[in-house]
Amino acid sequence: MKITRLTTYHAAPRWLFLKIETDEGISGWGEPVIEGRARTVQAAVHELAGYLVGKDPARINDLWQTLYRAGFYRGGPVLMSAIAGIDQALWDIKGKALGVPVYQLLGGLVRDSMKTYRWVGGDRPAELVEQIAHARAQGFDTFKFNATAEMRLVDSPRMIDAAVARVAAVREAFGDTVDFGIDFHGRVGAPMAPALLRALEPFRPLFVEEPVLPEQAEYYPRLAAASMIPLAAGERMYSRFDFKPVLAAGGLTILQPDLSHAGGITECMKIAAMAEAHDVALAPHCPLGPVALAACLQVDFASHNAMLQEQSIGIHYNQGADLLDYVLNKDDFACHNGHIAALPGPGLGVEIDEERLIQAHRNPPDWRNPVWRHADGSIAEW
Ligand SMILES: [Mg+2]
Repeated sequence: MKITRLTTYHAAPRWLFLKIETDEGISGWGEPVIEGRARTVQAAVHELAGYLVGKDPARINDLWQTLYRAGFYRGGPVLMSAIAGIDQALWDIKGKALGVPVYQLLGGLVRDSMKTYRWVGGDRPAELVEQIAHARAQGFDTFKFNATAEMRLVDSPRMIDAAVARVAAVREAFGDTVDFGIDFHGRVGAPMAPALLRALEPFRPLFVEEPVLPEQAEYYPRLAAASMIPLAAGERMYSRFDFKPVLAAGGLTILQPDLSHAGGITECMKIAAMAEAHDVALAPHCPLGPVALAACLQVDFASHNAMLQEQSIGIHYNQGADLLDYVLNKDDFACHNGHIAALPGPGLGVEIDEERLIQAHRNPPDWRNPVWRHADGSIAEW
């Protein structure tokens, strides 16, 4: 079998899909994207196509290493997201060629279904109780929301009080019938993070995500020592080489590699194994589309330390299309009590509605994350 062609589709809400075709009629799908930089990753995918066309798609390990090493310069969100989507598509082709789901090729199931969680509350957290009540009616009991809106490096205690009031309202409304993670989203700097963590501790969140920016990862062990809340991070780390020093330093309880940003299934299985060796759990980041989610699930179903899977159904970013709009086999992704059963189909287990994607690609989105500014006009972390 030989790879013949790579085609990309840029589609609402903010996704990029990759189709890799072969001379034997089997094709595979990937989702190589950095949110807000889809066109940059798209260019990287097509630049990498020269290493792929004419090659045997079954040699995933060799192709991955070639894409990673042959360019001399490596790593980072753009190149690793391009590799990620290509890697997903190669696994999809291999599974379809052999007639089995990818998790069978990764050693087989370690669980029958995977627990997922939903986003509530939007960019600036609001209406948490109403949105959780709505999602609970659909069977979800685990959620994630942002802790704060913009926060200055050193900010007023009022900001902490407001964050605590929102979380207290959730606990008051639902008691211990719901679990939730709280995303600091890199908005909270090292000076404010310990106080905010301690103030939120009584409400027993499942985890706090990106308690400070990954650029400040040296604070993770200190923040872990300052609070009992498990700390999670990883969506802005792009390879096992980025995770290596973070695991060695300690502090994180949960790693959140993104299957569309961190080198795909091949790399994230290795990151999962590194985490397991440190007694660290895995909760793949996935506010993206259905191919990214399917790739995450393949890793979850083969990784003992996978604990929770993010998914984008109803997320505030999904304007113009929601998670399953381009999917033909929607029933395979049905959530029962927040769990998705092992995907039964071959390859990644997602059947893409290509006609719908071709239509969507005619009006590509121009999604950008908002640019926020503090009251004094200075740029704020989103
Ligand atoms: Mg996050």
